[in-house]
Amino acid sequence: MESITALELQSDMYREAVAQFDRVAEVMHLDENIRERLRTPQRALIVTFPFRRDEYSEVDTLFGYRVQHVLTMGPTKGGIRFAPDVGLGEVSALAMLMTWKTAIVGLPFGGAKGGVRVDPLALSRAEKQRVTRRYTVEVINFIGPDRDIPAPDMGTDEQTMAWIMDTYSQHVGHAEPAVVTGKPPALGGSVARREATGRGVVSLIPPAALHLSMDLQGARVAVQGFGNVGRYAAIAAAELGCSVVAVSDVKGGIYNPDGLEIGKVAKWVDTHGYLEGFPGADPISNEELITLPCEILIPAAVAGVIHKDNADQVQAKIIAEGANGPTTMEADAILGERGVFIIPDVLANAGGVTVSYFEWVQDLQNYFWSENEIVARLREIMGRAFDEVLAISLKEKVDMRTAAMIKGVRRVAEAKLVRGVYP
Ligand code: GLU
Repeated sequence: MESITALELQSDMYREAVAQFDRVAEVMHLDENIRERLRTPQRALIVTFPFRRDEYSEVDTLFGYRVQHVLTMGPTKGGIRFAPDVGLGEVSALAMLMTWKTAIVGLPFGGAKGGVRVDPLALSRAEKQRVTRRYTVEVINFIGPDRDIPAPDMGTDEQTMAWIMDTYSQHVGHAEPAVVTGKPPALGGSVARREATGRGVVSLIPPAALHLSMDLQGARVAVQGFGNVGRYAAIAAAELGCSVVAVSDVKGGIYNPDGLEIGKVAKWVDTHGYLEGFPGADPISNEELITLPCEILIPAAVAGVIHKDNADQVQAKIIAEGANGPTTMEADAILGERGVFIIPDVLANAGGVTVSYFEWVQDLQNYFWSENEIVARLREIMGRAFDEVLAISLKEKVDMRTAAMIKGVRRVAEAKLVRGVYP
C-alpha cells in the first residue's frame, strides 16, 4: 500500500517518529490499514495569536499548536511545551510518542501534545501569563476534561497549568480542575506529581540492574538536566545508594567523580537559579556529560543529545531516558551493538503521565489520595510495564525500545480493530 506523506508535518523529529513506528510495525506484522492510520495524527490545530510585550508598543504574532494523535481509547493526553523552535512536526511526533507511552502503561488515553513557539527564558512572568492565557483561549474548544487534557512539558510548569485551568474555568463559568494535570495541589493538583517523572525513571533502574546482574551500591550516575525530571531523578538515584557524579542545566554541568551531595546542589539552584559556581565540583559541558565515566546515564533534558557522533563514546551500561527522544535512531543502533541497555523514553518517563492520570481521576471524583497511595500505585504500574516489556524483548529477541513500542502499538491496534470503521 502506498503510504501517505503528510507534507504539513515534515520535520526531522516527525520523520524519526514515523520511521521508528514503521520499523516496529514491520517486526510485529501490523495490519497495513491500521499501520497507515497510525502514521498521522487524527487532529492537528495551528493557531496564531497576538502577544503584547511588557513594553506596550510591541505586539508579536505567535504560533501555537495542539495535536491529538489517537482518539480511540478515551480523551487525549500530553504536555504543552514553550520553546523557540517548536513546530507542527515536532508536536505531532511527540503526540505519537504519547500514544505509545500511555498505552504501554495501560492508561485510558490517546496521545496529544501542544506547543507555543516562544523562548520561555526570555519572557517575564507577566508575559508568560499572557501567552498562556491567550493560547488557552485559542485552543479552548479543542481541550477539556473529557476531550484532551494538557500537562506541563519543557518550558511550562505548575504555574502555567494554573493559568490554563483559570482561563478555561472563566470561560465555561465554573471551576474545572480536571482540564489540566500537573497543577499546584491547592487547585486540585496531585501530591507527588512534580516528582513523578524523575522517580518513575529511577524506579526502573533496580529491575534493569537485576536483569544485568549489576550492583547498584555506589554505581555512578550522570544526569543531564536539573528541571522537573532531572532534579527528582538525581534525588531518587542518590536515595537508591548510587553516587550521582554529574548533573547539568541549560548553561552546563557540574562533575565530581566522588559524588555530588544532591541536597546541597538542589539548595544551590534554588538560591542561585543555575548550577554554575557550585563549590566542590568541576564545570563540564552538556556534551561532555554524555560521555563521562559512569554506570548509568539519565538524559533528562532535550531531544537528540545521544547521536551518531557520540554514541560510541558513551561509557554507561544503562541509559534511562528521562527526556522525550534523547537518542537518535542511528545512536540507538550503535548502542544496541555495543550492548548498552536502554530503558526507552516511552517506558522510562511514563511516571509523569501516570500520576497525571491519577490527578485527573482524583479531580473527576473530588476525592484525593495520600502520597503513599500514589507512590505505591506508580511503582506498581511502572514495575509491571517494565516486566512486560522485558518479557517481550526476550521472547521476540528485540531491544527494549522495540519491545515497548510493540506493547503500545498492540494495544492501540486492538482497540482500533474492535471499534471498527465509521461509517
Ligand atoms: N509532558 C509529559 C510527557 O511527555 C507529561 C504528560 C502528561 O502528564 O500528560 O510525558
